[in-house]
Amino acid sequence: MAGLLFGTGGSPHSAATKSTIDGIKRIAELGLGCMEIEFVQGVKMGEAGARLVADTATREGVKLSAHGPYFINLNAREPEKITASQGRILQTARIASICRAENITFHAAFYLGDPPEKAYSTVKKYLAEIMNQLKRENNRVWVRPEVMGKPSQFGTLEEILNLSVELERVAPCVDFTHWHARTAKFNSYHEFASILLQVKQRLGTSALDDMHIHVSGIAYGKSGEIKHRNLKESDFHYVELLKALRDYDARGIVICESPNLEEDALLLQATYNSLPREV
Ligand SMILES: [Zn+2]
Repeated sequence: MAGLLFGTGGSPHSAATKSTIDGIKRIAELGLGCMEIEFVQGVKMGEAGARLVADTATREGVKLSAHGPYFINLNAREPEKITASQGRILQTARIASICRAENITFHAAFYLGDPPEKAYSTVKKYLAEIMNQLKRENNRVWVRPEVMGKPSQFGTLEEILNLSVELERVAPCVDFTHWHARTAKFNSYHEFASILLQVKQRLGTSALDDMHIHVSGIAYGKSGEIKHRNLKESDFHYVELLKALRDYDARGIVICESPNLEEDALLLQATYNSLPREV
């Protein structure tokens, strides 16, 4: 059995409609294994809708996760923006939990000119409040701040791993493409392997058993990420990445965020499954 499930960020283009339920059905038809529900413009799904989504996903055997709204900045200057950001993450977690999604991800913050250490302690403080609230609600969703693609955005690999070490039920969303775009490095087997080794050393083998990964092609420049591209139109060495994931026996989910969504998700899955492996 494959250790990794592959799927799309949002409903596949070839789904009957853009609805989450049709998206899940299409994921199953395509032979993919997971889908990330995109609440990026706001959490507009209600509890009744989420229950239908959960039933569909269970019936179709599709594993779900959710991506929180873009309008989040846990390092905002204004207290009301912090409160609103926390509310958006909490709402993502609440609806995700009803969808029986086990993981949520989101873009945590911008530095806004702060030294990274200062932004880190601010993000950690407000994320800790979120985690305490979810604990009080008995919400067991894993909360995964994402490794980000621009130097103006909070979310180096180190920062995300540190949060994961320090806060209970916080884990990384390792966006390998973002990290490549941000550093203009990390595009070879050995560099990908070094990331996986770092995850293992900081968080233990259990983290490699339950990875949440984002992959796509990407265009990037001096300020990091410019835009997502299809894998074959970008320089991203996805085959090397898949080999490293195989060799480290990484398990969990891989969400494809290329513009062509399911096409690259299927390419990643087929490539991964065709890699030679020891029996
Ligand atoms: Zn994202």
